[in-house]
Amino acid sequence: MKILVLNSGSSSLKYQLIDMTNEEVIAKGNFERIGQGNSFLTHKVGEEKHLIECPVENHEAAIKVVLEQFTHPEYGVIKDLKEIDAVGHRLVHGGEKFASSVVITDDVIEKVKECIPLAPLHNPAGILGIEACKRLMPGVPMVGVFDTAFHQTMPKENYIYPIPYEYYEKYGIRRYGFHGTSHRFVSERAAELLGGQRDDLKIVTCHLGQGASLAAIKGGKSLDTSMGLTPLAGIPMGTRCGDIDPAIVKYLMENEKLSIGEVDTILNKKSGAFGISGVSPDFRDIEIEAEKGNERASLALNNYNYLVAQYIAKYAVTLQGIDAIVFTAGIGENAGTTRKGICDKLAFMGVKIDDEKNKTRGQEIEISTPDSKIRVFVIPTNEELVIARDTMNLVK
Ligand code: ADP
Repeated sequence: MKILVLNSGSSSLKYQLIDMTNEEVIAKGNFERIGQGNSFLTHKVGEEKHLIECPVENHEAAIKVVLEQFTHPEYGVIKDLKEIDAVGHRLVHGGEKFASSVVITDDVIEKVKECIPLAPLHNPAGILGIEACKRLMPGVPMVGVFDTAFHQTMPKENYIYPIPYEYYEKYGIRRYGFHGTSHRFVSERAAELLGGQRDDLKIVTCHLGQGASLAAIKGGKSLDTSMGLTPLAGIPMGTRCGDIDPAIVKYLMENEKLSIGEVDTILNKKSGAFGISGVSPDFRDIEIEAEKGNERASLALNNYNYLVAQYIAKYAVTLQGIDAIVFTAGIGENAGTTRKGICDKLAFMGVKIDDEKNKTRGQEIEISTPDSKIRVFVIPTNEELVIARDTMNLVK
């Protein structure tokens, strides 16, 4: 069975074509700047890279170009588009309507549309991807996999915000959480490494990428997560502020004479590690500057390590103990100094890591020492594979 996994952003389209007989990626790529007049596609077949510069107006035109690459006379990977058995769509927000992946029907599309107010930038893009596939690949079954679904197991006292209850009832304002596909994947893998899933297995997963979130997972169920109603909450990120005093919004509006939209842009795009360091949103650049003695770069990294460690400790309360901590995504998989900076702050809880093992990048490894009270793993995430597996299981 061959499955096409699509991740439609507002002006981008990422995809992977996966052969489920061996879970191998046959081709993958990224269409960027869709609808901006200078769009281009980077299509990869194994190590071979093809750059296709072609202006496309919308997602449907982009998907059409992608499908042409799959059957390209020179570097095509399938003979006929009929070989694609199903399409799995990454969808961001399923609100309280979706607690797991679903086969896409007209009713599902309607429900995803009803969730647009909760994810005004992301859900419309997902719907564009679905509708384009409906027209270009009629009859091919499609599945929606939601970023929020895995966290639907959170108990109400963990997801409710302490603001007037009527706003929860009226608008669904509550903690939803994101990166659910990744938290699910790495926690399931960690459970395997810990000898199998058990009801009392307590894992804290740290998805540390440009966007970042933590989750407290017991017996395979998410009990809490650091992102909230939107992906702006929680730990600081490349450019997002994470948790801050909400009164800062009013303060900035008044003192800097900014509109609410301008403050929103500052908190989403100019804050986080970039905001503090002034260097870059990329941790590689910040680390280099910190090594050269740039104090704000060091401050950004220390602030990050402190707040991530604090969240992990907070989740010891949620879970009533922690068996394992898992690091994943760009920073979690690659940045050994950040992992060490975080784990060192948890030494009082008995977390101990092996400095040699911690040098490993981008590979699955246990980095804790044999006498560490909490086991610590690096597990590369693979959200596309989860989407493909869910798609296969649901269309079978
Ligand atoms: P996204 O949220 O966009 O999927 P990723 O999970 O790919 O992000 O993470 C990208 C980030 O990972 C980069 O911006 C960078 O900060 C960080 N990163 C990647 N490699 C390294 C490295 N070797 N050292 C430190 N940080 C790294």
